[in-house]
Amino acid sequence: MEKIKEFFRTFLLVELLKGMALTGRYMFARKITVQFPDEKTPQSYRFRGLHAQRRYPNGEERCIGCKLCEAVCPALAINIEVAEREDGTRRTTRYDIDLTKCIFCGFCEESCPVDAIVETRIFEYHGENRGDLYYTKPMLLAVGEKHEAQIAKDRASDAKYR
Ligand code: SF4
Ligand code: SF4
Repeated sequence: MEKIKEFFRTFLLVELLKGMALTGRYMFARKITVQFPDEKTPQSYRFRGLHAQRRYPNGEERCIGCKLCEAVCPALAINIEVAEREDGTRRTTRYDIDLTKCIFCGFCEESCPVDAIVETRIFEYHGENRGDLYYTKPMLLAVGEKHEAQIAKDRASDAKYR
């Protein structure tokens, strides 16, 4: 009996008609394709994109060189060297992130006690040469300076919903 049913299903092209019906349904459904880069999809304030190092409003670096982010990074992407300044505070002399290793897990920003290392909403960046995605401390601080307003707003939203 099963064999006869199978024969008629094949003979009447039932599977083909089912496939065409599905195609037809989507032909008239609302399109969800986004015309990037002219259109963008909505982003969460917790979006994990390019990293940035932040400063306080008085211009002082937030990072105190505690190395928690380096210790927690599962990809071993962060390299930090620390020295004591003349005023007795600790500051990094080297803070590098190898973005080719980074898996954008967000552990570094979650572990930071002073909100120094953060991940921004920036995802449109690339490298053309070997080493372009090796972000040094000046590069990370420059990203932070450029996008501080958006970063501060996103951190405030995050705190509100915690
Ligand atoms: S996002 Fe994750 S993998 Fe990338 S640097 Fe931070 S802790 Fe490491
Ligand atoms: S970025 Fe934050 S967690 Fe990493 S060394 Fe600096 S203060 Fe510590």
